[in-house]
Amino acid sequence: MYKSLLLSIHALCASIVWAQSPASSPAPSPPSPPSAQSKPSVHWEELTAADFRDAIARGQGTCLLPFGILEKHGLHLPLGNDLLNVRYVALNAAQQEYAVVFPEYYFGQIFEAKHQPGTVAYSARLQLELLQETSDEMARNGCKKIIIVNGHGGNNSLLPYFAQAQLETPHDYVVYVMGIMRSAQGEPKHKSDPATDMHAGESETSLSMIARPDLVHLDRAPQESGADQARLKLPEGLYTGIWWYARFPNHYAGEGAAATRELGEFEARTWINGLVQAIRAVKADQQSLRLQHEFYERSKHPLETPQ
Ligand SMILES: [Zn+2]
Repeated sequence: MYKSLLLSIHALCASIVWAQSPASSPAPSPPSPPSAQSKPSVHWEELTAADFRDAIARGQGTCLLPFGILEKHGLHLPLGNDLLNVRYVALNAAQQEYAVVFPEYYFGQIFEAKHQPGTVAYSARLQLELLQETSDEMARNGCKKIIIVNGHGGNNSLLPYFAQAQLETPHDYVVYVMGIMRSAQGEPKHKSDPATDMHAGESETSLSMIARPDLVHLDRAPQESGADQARLKLPEGLYTGIWWYARFPNHYAGEGAAATRELGEFEARTWINGLVQAIRAVKADQQSLRLQHEFYERSKHPLETPQ
């Protein structure tokens, strides 16, 4: 993750109370414990066909699609950092408020990191087609409410566009998009400048220390600068695609070495709690699908729409 689109949503989580500690790291996935017989796994791929049917009913047709990426994260974090972190959050949230979680998905927007080793950047066309077909297939299997949980800042424009594009043609399901949630009341004091704490910086590295501590090489973080190189001077509000490369060509923004488990625990709690609230809200949402159907119907004959 490197740029939270949903900054305003941070205020929403200020009142969220941490109810339960995150489960131990879900990756690599251990075999389902015996207790899973009473409560089905939240992992799509771990369920039998018959158990999957029950799981969809148990989750009231609400499913999660955690969305990661493969890109450089400084010198100290793994390429799949966003995928690992977003799945940690999604799996923990789904265990608190049951929902089926789709397998690993990392086919997002990351053209700006194509100059770095290990980046996998699918074409824009394929990103949209694959996401549409994945959503269609999830819905065909009963996921009538799909929450795309975004763990990668480079998807911040793609995913709202994808959700908006669902109005192009009728769908019998609803797509929701949930972004990264960080700040909340009681947040531990940060050691680095929050203004540049974006990609593989203090906050993200702290969360990685909770999700996959075995993959964090904290000692390597200071070997590269995560400073803003500010090589492009444009007025505010004027956008161009090279902006990220102009500022952070090393795919490192902030100070990863400042990370702590304390901040990581807080960040994990904040995001998991926010997602639990989102799952509950989606389950309770009876309006979106009804309004979509109304809209699709009216859009077939706009001259008959009441004025
Ligand atoms: Zn990231």
